[in-house]
Amino acid sequence: MSGTLFVVATPIGNLADASARSLEVLRSADLVACEDTRTTRTLLARYGIETPTVALHQHNERAASGKLLNLLKEGKNLALVSDAGTPALSDPGALLVEAAHRAGIKVSPVPGPSAAAAAFSAAGFAADGYLFAGFLPAAKAARVKALAGLDIGCPLILYEAPHRVLETVQDLAERFGPERELAIARELTKKFEEVARMKLADAAGWLLAKPERIQGEFVLVVARSEPRPSGEIDAERTLEALLEVMAPSEAAKIAARITGLPRRLLYQKALQRAK
Ligand code: SAM
Repeated sequence: MSGTLFVVATPIGNLADASARSLEVLRSADLVACEDTRTTRTLLARYGIETPTVALHQHNERAASGKLLNLLKEGKNLALVSDAGTPALSDPGALLVEAAHRAGIKVSPVPGPSAAAAAFSAAGFAADGYLFAGFLPAAKAARVKALAGLDIGCPLILYEAPHRVLETVQDLAERFGPERELAIARELTKKFEEVARMKLADAAGWLLAKPERIQGEFVLVVARSEPRPSGEIDAERTLEALLEVMAPSEAAKIAARITGLPRRLLYQKALQRAK
């Protein structure tokens, strides 16, 4: 009988956020595969857990995954953790998880903290979904290019390093416009936690307002673009078509009947279009 690979979320700052189940799984596993064994040992020590640890980080993930897979096949239960938050989410772990699936080994998530979900929940942007894009590319040109494909009508969640956050909010303002809303969530669950909402135009000023603001860990949540009311979109198209064959006043009268929008508003639009 093969063992189980438990994918365990750990705290993103406040160690008290470790769930009861995550601690139970870490205690009963045969081995804990960690991004950095020193970081995870701090968590384990806090809860008196003595399970042995092994390193599984981005530089040894492929080689280490093979060995861990063999242990799973022998029936050992493994807990996979990253330094903070949910493994495989902008963190190592996916290679081992994929290998386990291919080998027919049971994979079981132990859900818990993630900076992306925590920031989104505190940002307050009502939406049915979001786009999580992790870290943007480090090089300016690649970053600006990446942003072009990320404005897809839902809030955008980004991770950012403190030495790049200022540049990134400036790129965001350039790309999405100064009026777009942004939430900056920094140092979540830690002593100097801040979650603030502002316009993109004000983000650089907010970051620079206090020297310590530019330090720590950041999640940026960008509001979605304002959807245009469907009536107005219809009106634009309708007006455009009508103006091809009639005068603005007549076009506005008929478009008002079709769309239900005020005739005066449509007449103004028609005059602008006719210019
Ligand atoms: N797997 C992790 C998760 O589920 O949140 C994310 C790991 S990623 C390497 C680290 C990034 O997550 C940081 O650079 C920062 O953008 C974000 N992050 C992690 N902890 C955070 C915290 N306490 N407050 C704000 N952002 C945090």
